[in-house]
Amino acid sequence: MTESAVAAKPLHLVRSAFAGLGPHFFSALAPAPLPAPYWVGRSPALARDLELEPDWFASDDALQAFSGNTLLPGSAPLASVYSGHQFGVWAGQLGDGRALLLGDTAGGLEVQLKGSGLTPYSRMADGRAVLRSSIREFLVSEAMHALDIPTTRALCVTGSDLPVRRETLETAAVVTRVAPSFIRFGHFEHFSYRGQQDALQALTDFVIRRFYPDCQSAPKPAAALLQAVTERTARLVAQWQAVGFMHGVMNTDNMSILGLTLDYGPFQFMDGFDPGHICNHSDSGGRYAFDQQPAIAHWNLCALAQALLPLIEDREQAVAALDRFADTYTQALAERLATKLGFARATPEVSALADDWLALLAGERTDYTVAWRRLARQAAGRSGEPLRDLFIDRAACDAWLLRFQELLAHNPQAHSPDLMLKTNPAIVLRKHLAEQAIEQARRKNFGPLAELQAALEHPYDEPAAHPEWAGIAPDWAAHIQISCSS
Ligand code: AMP
Ligand code: MG
Repeated sequence: MTESAVAAKPLHLVRSAFAGLGPHFFSALAPAPLPAPYWVGRSPALARDLELEPDWFASDDALQAFSGNTLLPGSAPLASVYSGHQFGVWAGQLGDGRALLLGDTAGGLEVQLKGSGLTPYSRMADGRAVLRSSIREFLVSEAMHALDIPTTRALCVTGSDLPVRRETLETAAVVTRVAPSFIRFGHFEHFSYRGQQDALQALTDFVIRRFYPDCQSAPKPAAALLQAVTERTARLVAQWQAVGFMHGVMNTDNMSILGLTLDYGPFQFMDGFDPGHICNHSDSGGRYAFDQQPAIAHWNLCALAQALLPLIEDREQAVAALDRFADTYTQALAERLATKLGFARATPEVSALADDWLALLAGERTDYTVAWRRLARQAAGRSGEPLRDLFIDRAACDAWLLRFQELLAHNPQAHSPDLMLKTNPAIVLRKHLAEQAIEQARRKNFGPLAELQAALEHPYDEPAAHPEWAGIAPDWAAHIQISCSS
């Protein structure tokens, strides 16, 4: 064997810890082959984190494995079963209709293929995912991670000319996703609604043992778990609101028990700041509008509480755990906004200033990311286009800036322009940027996607080769419609 063949060691997996929960929880099955696959995108950052051998990750062996055509050594693929509430309505058993858990890495991370064919839970659908939605999920998973927002990761996307029917004829792709766990609120709902209390208990014990060990010693571990998940979810949504992220389809089956952003579909980053913005074209009622996200997260936690009630037994305790949401969320958002304004602490004055800033942006639908970034650059004395030019009512902008200056003058030691530059991204995955990369990828030109991905890996640096990526969205972006179809 040559030296390079020895070095090109594949990713080794072990049977997932999740599989230890037993046959109630999943169906074992192999992925469906993906005809003539090709690379669409790979994440160098996650490959490094997983210590993948670069030669192997570039190889045809890896391409075949991440397309579902061969199995990585140690794989024991399975589709897990869960239920959930969709758009506020109990939907019964849902999935997983197109994702297979292959196994765990040596470090205990789960590796999934999404779009790898039919499972026993595919219902009327085809078990596939299209190139468009796969690229969006891939790019945003890694972009969110670079923004330090809890998320599932994405290692790569492979594509095929296999036709897949959505509103139009598209082509198939497979995303390889990685996370400590893909367990959702809907897993708990599934067993609770069926009255399978032993399975519910086993699932709860599993999650506590692996991910919330501090809950083990609580008088009611299930109540402690609910509280811990409530707090994590509240902090997650605070991060979404601060960066202007909309998930778009916050059904309970898309809510991670670990407080990770999970199942990217019709997501969007805010362009012009409109608190009521609805990013999901299928969400006619605006249930998942930007400003509804905290309330919906709380609603979903109530559904989780309901599911856990047979174990918690005491309604008061469940309510007490849920009550942690409001304070945790308010505090986390205030801290996040204070940081974006460069202050280490969210004093009442800083929070009032942040609120008025958001009102100013909302009043004029000012571009959310550009406004924060210009403010940061201006505070740090960097050259560039003035903040006030973003506003029609420049006097209102000037008046707010004056208050900001006054607060700085009174607390100079508490303020750091550098902190502003490190918490206000120059670049986020706006929908038109994803759209441009998708358009090229459809023509089998994958360079622009890799370039965009590289820029998103460093969101706090201006994208030097493409300054327009840090700019306001062009007019045509307003006409891109993103639905649940994926
Ligand atoms: P999502 O809207 O992607 O969260 O999907 C909701 C449920 O439908 C999940 O359980 C998915 O696995 C399933 N699903 C979505 N699209 C497909 C598909 N093309 N084939 C099979 N199952 C699907
Ligand atoms: Mg989903």
